[in-house]
Formats: sequence, structure tokens, C-alpha cells
Amino acid sequence: MLGVLSCLLLLLPASSEAYVRTMSETGIPLFWSNPNLAVTANPSNSSGLSQSQVQAMLGSAFSAWSGVPGTKATTSFNLSSSGPANSAFDGVNAVYFSSNSSRQLDWGVVGLTEVLYWVNSGQIAEADMVFNDRQFLFTATEGDTGKNIGGRTAIYLQDVATHEVGHAFGLDHTTVNMGSLVYTAFNGQGVLSADDKTGISTIYPSSGGRGALRGTVRGKNGGVFGTHLTAINLDTGKIQAGALANSDGTFRVGDLAPGNYAVMMESFGTGVSSISSYYSNLNHRFCSGSRFRRRFYAPCNGSGQVSVVSVGSGSTLELGTLAPSCSAMGTPGVAPTSIGTAKEIGTNGGAIFGTLGTSAAHFYRIRNASGAIVARALSYSLYSPADVRVEVLDSNGNAWSGAATLENVETFSGVTNYDSRATAQGNGADLIIRVSSAGSRVSSSQFPAGFDLVDADGHYLLALSVDGSIAATGPSDMSSCANLNNTSQSASFRAPASNSRDQTSGSGCGSLAAGPGDPPSQSGLFQILLGCLLVFSLARFQARLRRKLVRR
Ligand SMILES: [Zn+2]
Repeated sequence: MLGVLSCLLLLLPASSEAYVRTMSETGIPLFWSNPNLAVTANPSNSSGLSQSQVQAMLGSAFSAWSGVPGTKATTSFNLSSSGPANSAFDGVNAVYFSSNSSRQLDWGVVGLTEVLYWVNSGQIAEADMVFNDRQFLFTATEGDTGKNIGGRTAIYLQDVATHEVGHAFGLDHTTVNMGSLVYTAFNGQGVLSADDKTGISTIYPSSGGRGALRGTVRGKNGGVFGTHLTAINLDTGKIQAGALANSDGTFRVGDLAPGNYAVMMESFGTGVSSISSYYSNLNHRFCSGSRFRRRFYAPCNGSGQVSVVSVGSGSTLELGTLAPSCSAMGTPGVAPTSIGTAKEIGTNGGAIFGTLGTSAAHFYRIRNASGAIVARALSYSLYSPADVRVEVLDSNGNAWSGAATLENVETFSGVTNYDSRATAQGNGADLIIRVSSAGSRVSSSQFPAGFDLVDADGHYLLALSVDGSIAATGPSDMSSCANLNNTSQSASFRAPASNSRDQTSGSGCGSLAAGPGDPPSQSGLFQILLGCLLVFSLARFQARLRRKLVRR
């Protein structure tokens, strides 16, 4: 095994694709050569779920991943009371409940997907999935996840099963807000996010026609390994995909729908034990012991303008250098807190960022606005606690006739996205866009990943579309402002010292590294344990409420 690993060093760094892929110890992303995942599920459980309930929920969880446009990945699902109830390497992708086996999962682990792969290629040989019904009560009721029912923590089976199927396909935990692959259990996890969909369609694309972004995250001392990049689709207001930078700081976010994007960089905001051990020596505490802060890909001049890049069909756009910073995002220039100081956005739209206190407002002006106006204020999606509201006003600050504001852009399965959207029809007059923040912050308990990732600041990204245009600025290389005093880090297999790892006690699956079961002995095969969901996060929120918000 060691000989194999040292040979593979030459192949690194592996290309980091969109979202977070499960990596081998040596940094090879895992994949199925034939992504038609056929599983056999044994429905026996101690939660009182009937066969038909298990059939319906697991069936939905698997079919969610095969119905994604742009991917050739499919699933087929078979329920059998005689299906194997163990994770042996037996040629069957087994799904079962722990009470029906000798399996004992670690405390707090809701579900576990074990992926066997070939070390020299990353090709997956088998994936088995077990649900911990010894500790948790699995239910058939949407909204039950996290509830205490009869003294046990309840989990809506479809929520956790959807997450686990992502692992079975080779996806690792994401930190994109509301993604099904977020590492903690939450209501609504059974609904795939854009990031999840981009993930599956990038690993297993059905056809071309999509585009990609690539670049390098740098500080003063070279690449910043493990920086989390998100591609924000300005046309839809959704985080299209997230990715982690390679050890040299390079990244590629693939399989993006053609359109206009902003890019945000952020430090890895939770325990590294939640993702593949390839990343285990990440440490982003370059800022007096704190992590570097969230920042947009933008010109270095501090204008507040966010670079708007257009992703074309079938092409990869090079962004050049992206430069993180220790400084809070802030509000560049004079804060536009009145109509008199309103900051101008180009006649053809654009993207701009700011930071809002509670009960505060910022104003922007569009000259001669005509056609359809769509203003999107993203905040919650970007882990900002500001509960934003965006409105279209006339140049005197009165409501613009016919304008409409959606306070929260989305609510599903108990999750609310507090981003806001306003629409209006321009007639050639100047218009004012007002972005305001509610008198109270969105509680960290409203974020699926919880406290770990929520920013201290109420930042927002305003994307303004005028008559279908969000004036693309093109790439804006940030080499001239790369001033993060980072330390060079490499992937885990290069034997990091333990004191160079991020010691954050975030949610994660670290205990599983030495968890149940030994790797199988078949030559060349390695077992990776993934898929744990820690549901005690809500309790942890309570315990940590008094802790100061971590600035990142
Ligand atoms: Zn997981």
C-alpha cells in the first residue's frame, strides 16, 4: 500500500471540482465508472416504520439524485427483507438499519455510508449504507428531524437518506448553506440544493454545454490550501456550487450553467474532521489566531463593486489570483445610508456588497432605469445573519408603482431562506434600491450547519439586473492585493505535524476515522467512512450560546 501511495504523489494536485468531492488519502477524487447505482435495502427496523414507508422514503431519496438534469447518474432501488444487513465487500450495495445487524455506530452518528474504492484510481467498488436506529427514531413525517419523540431524537428518514446517497456517489460534506450534504441533520435536507445538483452533474455529466471557473487563491506565501470558493449565480440568486482549493491554491468550479456569476472565498469554517482526511491539516488561522474573513472576488480598489463574470457554454474562464483578507468585508467607501449618498450602480446593472447593522439601510441609484428590474439581496445564503429586505423606490424614496418585494425568497420543509428579492418595471426614470436589515439577526439555529459557519457581520451581496442585463465586468486578477500572511500547507499525506492542523472542535465525523470496522483486506481496496450526521448540534448551540461569535 505504501508503495502505491508514494507513486501517486507525482500525480498531485488533483483537480478540485465544484462542490466538495470525497478524496482518497492521496487526493484522488472518488467516482463510479458506471454511475448506475443499484442498491438493495433491507427494511427491518426498530423505529416502527412499515416496509411501504421505508420503500417510499428511500425510493424518493435515491430517485432525487437520478433525476438531476445534466447528469447520467441513475439509481435503482430494490427493497428485500432478505437483503444483506451488513457492510461486507460482497458485491451488493446494501442499505440497512443497525438494529437488524451486529453493527454499533458511534454515538451521535445518524447514518453512515461506507465507500470502498481502488486506491490507484479512486474508482468506487461498492457503497453500503447503515442507519442508526439503535439510538435514533426514524420517522415518516417531514419536519420531525431533530424533534424529541419519546425520549429519542427523531429523524425523518428521507432527510438523512438523501444525504447518504450523495456520499454513495462520491460527494463529501459541503458547507454551502442548505445543501443536502451539509454535515448536520436538518429539516429540508431531503431537498437537493443547486450545489448538490452541480456536484452530481459534474462528476457524471450527461453532455457538454456547461462552463467552468478556475483560479488560484493566494496569500503572501503562496497558495491557500482548502479555501472554500462559492460560485453565486446572479441570474437565479442561488449558490450554484462550492469547491475547496487544492494544496497549491488552485481550484476549478465545474459544470456551471451558462450565466453571470460572482465568486466568494471563505476560510474552511468548521472542523476538518467533517471531510476527507486529505484535508486534515487545514488551518486557516492566519489572522492573529483567527480565520481569514469572507470576501468577494473583486477589484483591489475597494470600490465595493463585485466582479461579475460570465460563464459560457463549454468553456473555462480563468479568474487569475483571488486574494483573501483578514479584514471584515465592511462597506467600501462612504456607507450609502441615505438617498443623498446613494451609491450608483451602472445603468445596465451589476453587483455590489455591503455590511449592515441591525435596523440599518443602504441606498443605491440606477439612472434611467428601463425594462424589467430585478434586485436580489443575498445574505442568509452567504452565512450572514442579517435578515435583509430589498425594495425598489422612486428617486424621492417613495414606493415605485408596481414594485414588489419578496421578504424571504424561499421556505421549504421548515427551512427559510431570508434573502430578499424585489421586482419592478422601469420607465426611464431614475430608481433607488434600498437594502435594509431587520431589527434582529437571524438566529444561528436557523442555519442548517448551525453556529459554526455563521458570520459575525451582516454582509450582503446586491445583484441588480436591468432589462435582463447584469453588466459583466470580466475577471479582475487580485494579485496586487494578495496580502494574507498565510503559511504554506499541503495535503495530509505529507505528514503534517499535529500542531499545524486546525484544532477547531466543529461538527464532524472525526471519531469515525477510527470507527467501527477495519478496512477490508482485499488488495488495493481501501475503505472510507463517511456519512455521519451529528444531530446533537442543536444542543451544542445551546451550550455555546454565550460564546462570542467567531469572526471569519
Ligand atoms: Zn455525511
